[in-house]
Amino acid sequence: MHQKPDADAMGSALGLYHFLIQFGHSITVISPTNWAEWLKWMPGCQDVIDYEYNPEKGNAALDRAEWLFCLDFNTLSRTRSMAVKLRKLSCTKILIDHHQEPESASFTYGISDTAKSSTCEMVYDVIIESGHSDKINREMAACLYAGVMTDTGSFRFPVATAAVHRMVARLKDTGLNHSKIHENLFDNFLENRLRFTGYVLQHKMDIFYEYNTALIAIPWKDLVRFEIKTGDTEGLVNYPLSIKGIKMAALIIDRDEEVKCSFRSKGDFDVNTFARKYFAGGGHFNAAGGHSGESLEQTVQRFMAAIKENSSQLQ
Ligand code: 5GP
Ligand code: MN
Repeated sequence: MHQKPDADAMGSALGLYHFLIQFGHSITVISPTNWAEWLKWMPGCQDVIDYEYNPEKGNAALDRAEWLFCLDFNTLSRTRSMAVKLRKLSCTKILIDHHQEPESASFTYGISDTAKSSTCEMVYDVIIESGHSDKINREMAACLYAGVMTDTGSFRFPVATAAVHRMVARLKDTGLNHSKIHENLFDNFLENRLRFTGYVLQHKMDIFYEYNTALIAIPWKDLVRFEIKTGDTEGLVNYPLSIKGIKMAALIIDRDEEVKCSFRSKGDFDVNTFARKYFAGGGHFNAAGGHSGESLEQTVQRFMAAIKENSSQLQ
């Protein structure tokens, strides 16, 4: 899965784990980095290796591997420090992913489909097409539901197709308690996160109506002050899109080791191309990310120049 995994990355990996384990395979799930507190309820999560924290254990598992499933990322660089090791591995590498422009040469084979809502939906399709739908159990359902629900914005984005709803119906047949999963993911934060959100929306959000764009830029010192942890800023970028007329929202955060950018759009502005062109990133048409080695101020300046260059598409 990709670094700093979200519910789709972690859910697809653990969903596949709960499937393959039933055939007697020996499976190890590895995350390139640590993950948010609010993913820790997922069945199997306690055994996932944090590669950054424990590279020896991760490398030992990778050296033993005959097959490597690469889930919810399109280029090996999305696995951060693990990428060096992955490039050297000669085992069969199978990609299952829905991001644009996969680095095909890095994978032996696989499925890349940007029309799919989530990698969790793709893992579900693999299970159905394998003819083993009888193996779908409640643990797997919880993991796959979490990813498909969050990647579709709780089933509101256009990618929430009839097939997605049929998948959810099938997962419900296992006895899946979906409302508990919403609670685990959305009603499970500490007070500081909500205070931080309020502070940021009040003091760190700028709206540029001439470009129908909103920017939230957060300095490192604010992350420290509010004791912000991995995952606490997830979802923040979506708030400005609730303002009438806003077509693009950007979140730029100084994470100390790098400046991380998130972009979201409504309608026909392509943030995948935008993130790729200006911020060494990528993702999907309406949701993408990137990063910069420059300071927060320089990154904000680069962003301002970029929206000026794209003003015709943003108006
Ligand atoms: P987020 O803004 O939530 O970090 O990411 C939004 C989407 O863009 C996700 O699908 C994520 O995988 C992708 N993404 C985020 N950062 C990067 C990046 O630096 N490079 C690429 N290629 N994709 C990214
Ligand atoms: Mn995904």
